[in-house]
Amino acid sequence: MSLTVLMNAGPWLSVPPPGYGGIENVVATLVPELRRLGVRVVLASVGTSALPVDELVSVYPDGQFSALQRPYNQVCGVAQAHLAGVARELRARDDIDLVHDHVEAVGLATLAAMGPDAPPALHTLHWDLAKHPALYGHLDGGDRVRVNGVSASQLARAPQALRDHSVGHVHLATPLAVDAHRRPGPLKGDHVVVLGRINPGKGQDVAARLAHRYAFPLVLAGPVGPYHRPEDLAAAGDEARQNPDVRFFLDEVAPHVDGDRVRWVGTVAGRDRDDLVASARVALFPLRWEEPGGTAVVESLALGTPVVATARGCLPELIDDGRTGLLTDDEERLGELVLAAGRIDPEECRREAAARFTPAVMAQRYVELYDRVRQLASAR
Ligand code: UDP
Repeated sequence: MSLTVLMNAGPWLSVPPPGYGGIENVVATLVPELRRLGVRVVLASVGTSALPVDELVSVYPDGQFSALQRPYNQVCGVAQAHLAGVARELRARDDIDLVHDHVEAVGLATLAAMGPDAPPALHTLHWDLAKHPALYGHLDGGDRVRVNGVSASQLARAPQALRDHSVGHVHLATPLAVDAHRRPGPLKGDHVVVLGRINPGKGQDVAARLAHRYAFPLVLAGPVGPYHRPEDLAAAGDEARQNPDVRFFLDEVAPHVDGDRVRWVGTVAGRDRDDLVASARVALFPLRWEEPGGTAVVESLALGTPVVATARGCLPELIDDGRTGLLTDDEERLGELVLAAGRIDPEECRREAAARFTPAVMAQRYVELYDRVRQLASAR
């Protein structure tokens, strides 16, 4: 059976993304595996996208990421212009069997409004939707438009209208998981790493406080708002404080950063990121939000680094407590768990990632969901 999917990655960044890029990373991980399974992929993205696909459809020549700093109605305007181009394309051709959409809220609304003759659509939810009930309040695409989550916990917290249209969840994957169990383990250092955007939900302030209390070396890796390097943040004036993540970092995290026991290294990428995580003795996630998908969590497992985390959001689905990591409901216990994590076998972490979090596993699951969505649409 040949299947043609229009994969809508949105107008924000090229695919694969040049640096940080959550949705674009998911698409870049998924598409090559879908094509290996024989799916034709028409990618709706920006002109600079370089991911090999069967066809590229774009409205904007390059990524509109900077528009995300503008007021919300202007952000929606950019998304809508992109979606209007996608809708025009869908009306003009009849070879698209299914749309797989990743554009938050606007994408879902546009596809739902396209009418009964449009192809069936699957919209992947990427965020913690309990925070956005108004955006996702209703869905009137009938049985033609379905949604999936990136974890069971994310779906359970989603607005009812979305749950009514859900076809299940698909966990995130990482190319690092491929053959992860066959790679030799690197030498472990003494440090604990927190990998992710610096943000109150990710809890870097808790990690920094615990590092001093329990005397473990801590490396914080990730951007602070738009600042990727410590020197860029240092050079930015007071204006930088307009960004809430910058305020969080300066007020709650920076006072603990002494450049010795606690270091902030900015964004790490490529081999540097992989080496930093693989050589860490623990990947710590002191979460205060309900982590929806946790790419950095599955990456840590794939790199053979045990996870210590608050048991929030998708963490209990991704981590087998006691075998691939240690979870707690009490953030004050995280320090003790970091010290106890030596009993978790890095090999187990890599084996788990190779079995559950590869791009092939994710693509297989999406192909099943595509079938289900098409069946539901044709049974109307
Ligand atoms: N990341 C990175 N370098 C950093 C910090 C984060 O490459 O310094 C990557 C990380 O490896 C992961 C992504 O950014 O692939 C974060 O995705 P996740 O789902 O963990 O969190 P989100 O930021 O999407 O909530």
